[in-house]
Parts: sequence; C-alpha cells; structure tokens
Amino acid sequence: MKQFAVIGLGRFGTGVAKTLNTMGYEVLAIDDDEDKIQEIINHVTHAIQVDAKDEHALKALGIRNFDVVIVAIGHDMQASILVTVLLKELGVKCVVAKAQTELHGKVLEKVGADKVVYPERDMGARLAHSLVSSNVLDHIELSPNHSILEVVTPDIFVGKTLKESALRAQYNITVMAIKRGKEIIVSPSPDDPIEENDILVAIGDNEDLRRIERD
Ligand code: ATP
Repeated sequence: MKQFAVIGLGRFGTGVAKTLNTMGYEVLAIDDDEDKIQEIINHVTHAIQVDAKDEHALKALGIRNFDVVIVAIGHDMQASILVTVLLKELGVKCVVAKAQTELHGKVLEKVGADKVVYPERDMGARLAHSLVSSNVLDHIELSPNHSILEVVTPDIFVGKTLKESALRAQYNITVMAIKRGKEIIVSPSPDDPIEENDILVAIGDNEDLRRIERD
C-alpha cells in the first residue's frame, strides 16, 4: 500500500492528509507548529513536529521511503522551494508541491518537483466556469486549451443516441461517461441514448466545449 507524507498542515495540506487517511492509506503529517500537529494527530497515522528545512530531521524520519511526499507549504516560498530540493536530494521518488503563483510553480519544477499543483488558481477557474454557465457542474483544466467538463445535457441532445447527437462528429467532443442518478455509464457506446437530466462527462478543446455550455 502506498505511503504518503504531507509537509505543511494549512487548509490544503490538512485536506490532503485527512482524505488520504480516510481512503485507508498510511499518512505521516509534518508541520513545525505544534498546534497543527495536535489538531491532526487523531486523523492520520503519524504526526510529527519538525522544521522540514532540517535535512537531518527529514533523513531521520526515513522520508525517502515514502512513495509520495506532498509539500503543502504556501506562504513561505523559500521554505517550500528548499524543502522540495532537500526531498529530491534525499531520493524521494515523487514530490508534489503546491505553488502560490506561476513563478513559484516554475521554480518548483526547475528544482525537481515531479508535479506542481495550483489549488487556488484551479478552484477559482472551476468556480468561474460553473458560475457563468448554468449547466456546467465541474470543469477540470487539462492544458491551456483542453478540459474535462461535467455538464447537464443540453435539451437538443435529449432523446438521441450519442451517435445521433453528433457530439464527436460535429462538435469534436468525446463523452467519457454519462452520470444518470446514481448510475455511471463509463465509456458509453454510440448507441447509448441520452436522457433528460443526464450529466455528460466530456473531454475536448475549450472552444468546442463552450458550444455545449448554456448561459
Ligand atoms: P492553506 O492555504 O492551505 O491554508 P497556506 O498556503 O496559507 O495554506 P501556509 O500557512 O503558509 O500555507 O503553510 C502551511 C503550513 O505549513 C503551516 O501550518 C505552517 O506551519 C507549515 N510550515 C511552514 N513552513 C514550514 C516548515 N519549514 N516546516 C514544516 N512546516 C512548515
């Protein structure tokens, strides 16, 4: 089973650590603030007060044996960068680092972060999409030009099969799944009908996807 360590127990780090724990994974939570440790101690496997800038302390924790280490330090950019460098130097295979800004993210990538996440920016974009389009439930940006959209089926497609809807042929959009109440039809076939209130999980170019969004 994968083992995770989360460094920095702000709202983001705490959310990641608790969710992984709920999913049954082993989680080591690290923060230099003792209060944060006390708050999380009953919700993770281990919680320890350590300044993650301390290379010897990280080594003593056997940090390199963890499959994934998440650096969730936000405001102290210098600390987040230094800790990322140390983790890679210590041989951690996968370091996921949270960035506050694009520049911060670029530096994290340069110093070896395997994945950089921008939770505030991404959440802001997701919220904006769901606010401006009445039928969009969720929006995940894959690249500046491509996204995955969860969208309530526009009326024009109701009663048609996927093939008849021409979502792929005309709109250039691929439906990966259809959510119908509690049921999820993964990889629907061209002959699957689209019903009223179906939620389409669609992938495509942002411009194409915009054509199935409603104001
Ligand atoms: P969020 O938005 O997720 O609440 P944030 O971006 O505001 O978090 P910070 O509050 O800057 O992030 O940092 C998150 C946590 O990281 C804090 O609890 C802080 O004590 C911890 N932290 C900061 N520097 C270190 C460090 N060197 N070692 C360990 N923990 C640290």
